[in-house]
Amino acid sequence: MLNNTQRRFGNLPETFYSALSSQPFAHPHLVAFSEPAAALIGLDASAQNHPDFISTFTGEKPVEGFQPYAAVYSGHQFGGYVPQLGDGRALTIGEANGWEIQLKGSGLTPYSRFGDGRAVLRSCIREYLCSEAMAALGIPTTRALCIIGSDEPVRREQVERAAMMTRLSPSHIRFGSFEYFAHTNQHEALQQLVDFTIEHHFPAFKGDEAGWYTEVVERTARLIADWQLVGFTHGVLNTDNMSILGITLDYGPFAFMEAFDAGFTPNHSDEGGRYAFEQQPAVGMWNLNMLAVALSPLLSSDALKEGLRRYEPAFLARFEAGMRAKLGLAESLPEDRMLMRDTIQLLHKTRMDYTRFFRALPDDASTLFKDEHQAEYAEWAKKYAARLTQENRNAQQRKAAMHTVNPKYILRTHLAEAAIRKAEDEQDFSEIDKLRRILKNPFDEQPEYADYALPPADDAPEICLSCSS
Ligand code: AMP
Ligand code: MG
Repeated sequence: MLNNTQRRFGNLPETFYSALSSQPFAHPHLVAFSEPAAALIGLDASAQNHPDFISTFTGEKPVEGFQPYAAVYSGHQFGGYVPQLGDGRALTIGEANGWEIQLKGSGLTPYSRFGDGRAVLRSCIREYLCSEAMAALGIPTTRALCIIGSDEPVRREQVERAAMMTRLSPSHIRFGSFEYFAHTNQHEALQQLVDFTIEHHFPAFKGDEAGWYTEVVERTARLIADWQLVGFTHGVLNTDNMSILGITLDYGPFAFMEAFDAGFTPNHSDEGGRYAFEQQPAVGMWNLNMLAVALSPLLSSDALKEGLRRYEPAFLARFEAGMRAKLGLAESLPEDRMLMRDTIQLLHKTRMDYTRFFRALPDDASTLFKDEHQAEYAEWAKKYAARLTQENRNAQQRKAAMHTVNPKYILRTHLAEAAIRKAEDEQDFSEIDKLRRILKNPFDEQPEYADYALPPADDAPEICLSCSS
């Protein structure tokens, strides 16, 4: 069913992974299928009806010429080093068109530790929707091809159904992959992994390991700036969840921040707020430091320090350009930093919905603020209006430009939850597909779906997210 297949990581020796096969589950059925993701590996919409589709993407029918594997890695989790992690419930089953095809929830592996190797339907739906939504926002991310559901019960806080999600990524190598070989003193393997990464994923840096590390630093900085600009809060930014490619990886208890709160954290297990929204830029730097430690057998400390020094400028350049665009400023003036700070303070103090504020800004954002916050908004709006007088674009041009960077639709937690409820309670998967399609065009008005741009009702129950998925 797949053409254009290849094998890159799987050609490395078994030091880097364990070869094994998937553990198929009872009564598999198709839950969701993303056409845009399918196109990446050369499949069209009809592929979902192919007799081999379900057996291929549950790992039951192997991809020809490919030995499936689970990769080894380690990493820092919540600040502490864990010597061995690895794909505890994931299996790479093939590669096509430069994309690794990985099943998540495929059963036990040598790295499962205390887990059951499975993923629950709810977490597959969340990862599936968010991967595709992030891609549509233009933010680098792994992709999601499909979800296959089952009747197999799995125990979490309560008994749920197991599912598998097929994830696509040019590579699943993590910061933690390098940490594993460094901390076990396997320096030859470490060098091999660096060589592999550069050869296949950073060919412009062949023979320039220091330049490659700097590139990883800058990509990570830009990725996190992109997250801050839309309110995406990853929730578990451990080094094993950091892609070496600088793309969003491992969606767990993530959420888009709705009411602005700098200390927002979606992960209820993260009591100290280590991975809160406002911490993400600093955490990116901390994680890159851990990567630098892992690379220190191969690279001089000067080269690593030099690379790390690029983090802050790369982050600020991306963030400030992005914030300027969100505010509709085509000119760049020194006082803009102050306006950006005032804007963030206004949103934080008034707990304004981050996404709705910027979307409404070219028309009239005042209507979004409660009576008690009108004065604060008016004060800010005066400064903003004064700044706009220094712009050359007319209001119409500005609005058009702002609408291309300020999304109307994001994956709000209650929207994903509604799709999950329907899927779990009624075996009705239509809301998953509907939501994916709406989020495919986040910058379009789509007036018929205006309700999907709204925050949850004031009296809506709180949705609890944890690492257990
Ligand atoms: P995460 O925090 O989801 O990125 O997972 C951290 C580590 O735990 C990774 O090595 C995962 O493969 C592993 N893991 C998470 N859930 C399970 C599970 N249900 N069974 C086996 N391993 C798991
Ligand atoms: Mg992970």
